[in-house]
Amino acid sequence: FEKDTVLVIFGASGDLAKKETFPALFGLYSEGCLDPSTKIICYARSNVTVEQLKKSCLPYCRKSTTGNDEVKMKKFFNMVSYIQGQYDTDDGYIRLNDAIEDFEHERGVQEPHRVFYLAVPPSIFLTVASQVKKNVYAYNGITRVIVEKPFGDDLESSRELQKGFKPLFRAEEIYKIDHFLGKDDVRRLLTARFANPFLNQSWNKENIESVQVWFKEPFGAEGRGGFFDSTGIIRDVMQNHLLQILTLATMEEPVSNDADAIRDAKVELLKCMEPLGPKNVVAVGQYGKSVDGKKPSYLDDDTVLNKESKCLTFTELTFAIHNDRWEGVPIIMRAGKGLDEDRVEIRIQYKKNTSGMFEGCTPNQFVIHFHPEPTIFMTFNTKAPGFADKLHQIKLDMTYDQQYKKEWVPEAYECLIYDAFQGKYANYVRDDELDVSWSLFTPLLKYVEGPNAPQPEIYPYGSTGPKGILE
Ligand code: NAP
Repeated sequence: FEKDTVLVIFGASGDLAKKETFPALFGLYSEGCLDPSTKIICYARSNVTVEQLKKSCLPYCRKSTTGNDEVKMKKFFNMVSYIQGQYDTDDGYIRLNDAIEDFEHERGVQEPHRVFYLAVPPSIFLTVASQVKKNVYAYNGITRVIVEKPFGDDLESSRELQKGFKPLFRAEEIYKIDHFLGKDDVRRLLTARFANPFLNQSWNKENIESVQVWFKEPFGAEGRGGFFDSTGIIRDVMQNHLLQILTLATMEEPVSNDADAIRDAKVELLKCMEPLGPKNVVAVGQYGKSVDGKKPSYLDDDTVLNKESKCLTFTELTFAIHNDRWEGVPIIMRAGKGLDEDRVEIRIQYKKNTSGMFEGCTPNQFVIHFHPEPTIFMTFNTKAPGFADKLHQIKLDMTYDQQYKKEWVPEAYECLIYDAFQGKYANYVRDDELDVSWSLFTPLLKYVEGPNAPQPEIYPYGSTGPKGILE
């Protein structure tokens, strides 16, 4: 552990801090993965106390594996203090700097280690980042800045933000979050493929029929319509989370385990795709009322102000990866809200057996469920029990909870914050990765949000989505 690290959470009074940041920090602390010498300073404009922050995050904190959580919680919050200040003027940051220096002086710190977490709306990322550089940057030590998503909402705005950050921090000082990269089971994709070479060797155009990524949410935009209406399903989960899953599942093996080698391999893969547009759209939809009338349509939601909104709550895309491994294999990406299930998965669909004694038998699938139950399974053809030579397809199943019953499995934000403290940035998004992913999705966004936008098909809340999807 790095001793006497200072973590500053900007926007500590907000929703993310309450639901994710504090629970993750407490989780790390209670499992012995956050050094007790750490100082956590919360910073926001609101007049709140540490006690209030503690109360508000309690319902979101997990029980630790070793118990005694009340005592741990008390000790953890003794590490936390709060500074009330504005984001755009020096005053609060000067007081913040005094607090940090007092702490470091008291502990005799020679080389400060400061981590700044920007849990604030994107509109003030740069304001806060500039003030961090001006007033609290550790010139004689280590500074790391964790930046929340979204980092831009199209190629242009993402580049603008990158341009703003560039003169402030070195690339290795900026940790841009895509929280799917913190999920233990997303991280498992690389081991699943490259530590089991037989799998990776069969993942190619000779053997694979299609690669499908699915994001299904059983609830709608309830209460978040304001945010969702300007975001839509493509920005919310496809350009970032689903593309990350897909990239990890299809990229070539990195030349090493090094963070930049992994990110290089991801960028190489993304460069093999063409910008997306009308030809890639299979279906677009917006959820209507549920069949029983109990769930409101998207447009009936009080928080959706534009009652003529064409905002997409469902999209299905198909596209190609132009390289030796994947040429000709359809890549299918689907995401929807207000559907019949809660599931995020990748499904590698093998081709049919076209010869031999079991010609035409049910093809194999390799599936990873990332949510809600982390599971890896593979369908496997076998002889059914009994005298008849009947084929039967079973699941070779690794449900994470059963395999690792006793282990503490860190949550996404626990992994990401732990990594940032350790200076590990493989699971944070690099600028060129952002650039190429926005280059792919910006033309599609322009199309679905432009004057010739396709009319979304209205599908019932709680259904499988629009008709005609490629299931
Ligand atoms: P939030 O609650 O709206 O904002 C966090 C804090 O920032 C607020 O408590 C407020 O603190 C301050 N703030 C809000 N609006 C502001 C404005 N217009 N100007 C200046 N300060 C403002 O946001 P959040 O949901 O916590 O999200 C924080 C960041 O995480 C955002 O970038 C968001 O996109 C990202 N994120 C959030 C979630 C989530 O589940 N909430 C999930 C993924 C990503 P004070 O007024 O006290 O200063």
